Amino acid sequence: MELRTKLLIGGEWVAGSSRFPTLNPATEETIAEVEEAGADEVDAAVRSAREAFADPKWRHMDPHCRAALLWRLADLVEQNAEFIAATETRDNGKPLFESGKVDIPFVVANLRYFAGWADKLTGDVIPVSGGFLNYTLRDPVGVVGAIVPWNFPLNIASWKLAPALACGNAVILKPAEQTPLTALLLGELALEAGFPPGVLNVIPGRGPVTGQALVEHPGVDKICFTGSTATGRRVMATAAAGPKKVSLELGGKSPNIVFADADLDAAVRGALTGIFYGKGEVCAAGSRLLVERSVHDEFVEKVAAKATSMTVGDPTDSKTRIGALVSAEQRDRVLGYIDAGREDGAKLVAGGNRAEVDGKGYFVEATVFDEVDPGMRIAQEEIFGPVLATLAFDDVDDAIAVANHTIYGLAAGVWTRDIGKAHRVARDVQAGTVWVNTYNRYDPASPFGGFKQSGFGRDLGEIALQEYTQTKSVWVALDG
Ligand code: NDP
Repeated sequence: MELRTKLLIGGEWVAGSSRFPTLNPATEETIAEVEEAGADEVDAAVRSAREAFADPKWRHMDPHCRAALLWRLADLVEQNAEFIAATETRDNGKPLFESGKVDIPFVVANLRYFAGWADKLTGDVIPVSGGFLNYTLRDPVGVVGAIVPWNFPLNIASWKLAPALACGNAVILKPAEQTPLTALLLGELALEAGFPPGVLNVIPGRGPVTGQALVEHPGVDKICFTGSTATGRRVMATAAAGPKKVSLELGGKSPNIVFADADLDAAVRGALTGIFYGKGEVCAAGSRLLVERSVHDEFVEKVAAKATSMTVGDPTDSKTRIGALVSAEQRDRVLGYIDAGREDGAKLVAGGNRAEVDGKGYFVEATVFDEVDPGMRIAQEEIFGPVLATLAFDDVDDAIAVANHTIYGLAAGVWTRDIGKAHRVARDVQAGTVWVNTYNRYDPASPFGGFKQSGFGRDLGEIALQEYTQTKSVWVALDG
């Protein structure tokens, strides 16, 4: 494979209205100049998707053939995994082991999982009153605009397009401007797999230009979005003019709760992967560490010591655990929050500085704050970087109260050997995902999404099919 830089519209690689550079955040070098879709190209993509959606070749394709196409796409991603993972790492700055061992294999598994659903989208037969047969059909929603962020560029793209395609929709994918390259590679592989032209269009560009035009376009039936709560709010307001269907997976400030009776060594590991995996640029990052007061000091000391020893640097080096943040802007945002933590009176116990490799790159050390108050900015706002805020609690009720003291509700972790306590927290914590004695586990079959201002709708799992189908109720008179 080779890098693609043009827009994929209607099965053709076409120029955009302008171009923008995409950088390697570890070296600050420009990897490529990528074409940007302006309003005209967005319109062309929507028209091509509408035609593809209406074309009987796709609209009435046998479901098992749609499954076979998705399966073939999964095979092609797997065959090209090394190049795709290396491209993801260059564009995003994440360690190669994360792209190669986690992200891209998940894309493959996810495509296969939803391939399996394509010919299992059954309706119901409903026992209605009178002489009627009533049954439901599940129609695709039509043209789906998928707007995805830069933290898991191809992975999250696959969360949207795999179920959307399995259900027979046509998709327009807008990757984040910081990380457009792997979405374009996927577009190329979708063509090679045999998806009809226009069924998957890929249109890089800036959010306020390309994303905005896509959300505004009357030819788009549904927007599925992952990103910040602020942008999600804007997307929803714009979509209201349609109105068009929307699902939003937004930010988080997830609590990782450690009780004194837990396997504390496992919990230390869980606290570290909870926040430092993906450089903390993870919507479900366990960015608030809640530790029971009786073990708090000893526990935080261990977490801080391990954080200090984590290798920050070249994402292609297998020893690296924390790669480069995605952009200079994101690095500065994260450093701003580290300053805010200091100003608000939290105690810095690890990291706290920017780092560089050969004088370049947008790196920040693994950073841990202790003595954080639940109201501080670093305990309330999504930092989206390798910064952990540690808080102490007294008992289960206190832990739950502190855990829920946030506008977000994406995920939570709980570490305990007491099964009752674990289920109690799982019941009472306001979060779309709860991990017990583990953190950051995902599977294509398990739903993912938010409570509260972390959004609505679900990615992954059977439930995601609801986002991409609409129910039709059919009444048949049985008596003349
Ligand atoms: P955004 O939420 O702005 O970006 C997410 C996606 O939305 C990108 O594709 C972006 O395009 C697009 N977008 C931006 N503006 C619009 C618009 N008006 N209409 C339609 N689409 C739009 O995230 P940022 O990159 O600005 O990151 C800022 C913060 O957001 C982070 O620090 C983090 O806190 C949070 N975030 C959360 C994520 C999550 O997974 N929950 C993911 C990413 C960020 P483009 O990038 O091209 O501008």
